[in-house]
Amino acid sequence: MKDRIELLPKDRSFYKANLHCHSTVSDGAFTPEELKSMYMAKGYSVIAFTDHEICVPHTELTDDNFVALTGVEIAFGVGGKNKTSVHLCGIARDPEKTMEIPNEESDCAEAIASGVVRLRKENCISTLNHPLWSALSAETLQSLPSPDHMEVANGFEMIVDGYGTADALYEMELRRGRRFRPLATDDSHRSADGSAGPEYFRGWTVLCAQKLCYDSVIEALEKGHFYASTGPEIRGLWIENNVLYVETSPVCGIYVHGTEYRHRKAVTERHNTLCRAEIPLTGFETSDYLFVRLVDENGKTAWSCPYYFEKV
Ligand SMILES: [Zn+2]
Ligand SMILES: [Zn+2]
Repeated sequence: MKDRIELLPKDRSFYKANLHCHSTVSDGAFTPEELKSMYMAKGYSVIAFTDHEICVPHTELTDDNFVALTGVEIAFGVGGKNKTSVHLCGIARDPEKTMEIPNEESDCAEAIASGVVRLRKENCISTLNHPLWSALSAETLQSLPSPDHMEVANGFEMIVDGYGTADALYEMELRRGRRFRPLATDDSHRSADGSAGPEYFRGWTVLCAQKLCYDSVIEALEKGHFYASTGPEIRGLWIENNVLYVETSPVCGIYVHGTEYRHRKAVTERHNTLCRAEIPLTGFETSDYLFVRLVDENGKTAWSCPYYFEKV
């Protein structure tokens, strides 16, 4: 292992992003312009507009303080109506991308697998959305080719549909050898009395990017220079001489997880008084990867990307 490895690059800025939302282009309550101003008022700099089945660029919304990512959400039904519906988000590497991918019904998991392949062919970064809401069986989940990301926290799934976060499912997949990275999103749809519904501002992804422009945001996603959160912030993350250093907003727990139970290390305090941890990685030699979880006293969580030891 090299002397010092920055897991989140030091010379970059952090940009808060909602990478899954619906506008009036499909079944969302607000126009893309309204979503931009609502999210910017909450400190966001990036939105991926991922309307159902149709990819429409909103590049006219991009300016010095905001990036509108071009995206889509596609769906594949399995096993008959209402049994399982797998949804994938695609974020286009080309901001001017347009496409339509209608919903498909099928009885075989291969059809879903083709969705991941299709997004790849369309030059999109892919995410497996709200896996608990989708009622995915272990077999269906395991038959999927790896999308680039999985939603560990989706506001709609967590709050409106009452499933909570999917981080246990995500960690089980990592242990099986699946290599995808965690996203936290809102999946914003609804309005309550004309204002944002309960799923808004529940989960976000913080991108560590060179600058606020389309290409740098895509690069941060592709390189895993980001973390997912429902509350806490990761402010610094590096390994030096086999010790993991973590700097955070005030939390009550900083944890590093690997593949086996004895790889789980934790530093905790009773209240939100912890802002830094130095965690020796002795014993992690047999782990393929590590990732960091933060928990604050309100039970809010942040997840780093998984880092694979052959790369660090
Ligand atoms: Zn969906
Ligand atoms: Zn959605």
